[in-house]
Amino acid sequence: MSIGERLYEGKAKIIYKTEDPNILLAHYKDDATAFNAQKRGQIVGKGTMNCSIATHLFQKLEASGITTHFIDQPAPDQMRMKAVKIVPLEVVVRNIAAGSLCKQTGLAMGTPLKQPLVDFYYKDDALGDPFLSRDRILLMEIATPEQINWLASNALEINRILIDFFQQCGITLVDFKLEFGVDSAGQMILADEISPDTCRLWNQSETDPNRRVMDKDRFRQDLGDVESAYAQVMERVLAQPV
Ligand code: C5P
Repeated sequence: MSIGERLYEGKAKIIYKTEDPNILLAHYKDDATAFNAQKRGQIVGKGTMNCSIATHLFQKLEASGITTHFIDQPAPDQMRMKAVKIVPLEVVVRNIAAGSLCKQTGLAMGTPLKQPLVDFYYKDDALGDPFLSRDRILLMEIATPEQINWLASNALEINRILIDFFQQCGITLVDFKLEFGVDSAGQMILADEISPDTCRLWNQSETDPNRRVMDKDRFRQDLGDVESAYAQVMERVLAQPV
């Protein structure tokens, strides 16, 4: 397979065309950003680790009946994917209060939520990815009411599958962000990546609030040992069957 023209460079990935217009290739980068790219750095080996973790999780989700854009992983830091038109929404599922939920509601960090919460954000760097209500999504004609319902129920189904999967890894899935896209057949499918960049993951064998963090919060909050936390997630994820 030959790599074609560079289509788009994001914060964590470069997307290339291929000879097949329905297939794109993602190169996962070591670059790390936080706080809408105000903080920048490198996590050595992140490209390979996130690509391998995302590959395994997409395979697990596919095996559980979720359609994703994943095709295969031709190199450790490369993923071939179905070409989709990305829906400009970040769909966040939360099981435990952390991050912006605590900042915006005053809930104490670590509070278990009685039921998972689905939050939508507008994927727009210039606006700082603001929180969107369902009515605002309709107002902006980003998705129909049926699509919003489908996104929420699909995200909750993915949450159920991933909670169980990470439980097998001795990891608590605190929250995570999903993106969806529309494929050439007009079907909405899961896209982007699922990795320690896009999830909050807490090590169940640690109780200390800093030591238990196995995700990008280590980078965001300068907690150190970022690479070894990502490596530990990869080791535990890849040890599980899909
Ligand atoms: O910042 P916040 O607490 O809303 O993040 C919720 C979850 O979504 C976290 O797991 C975070 O890593 C993820 N997220 C992301 N990309 C963003 C914003 C949040 O992956 N642009």
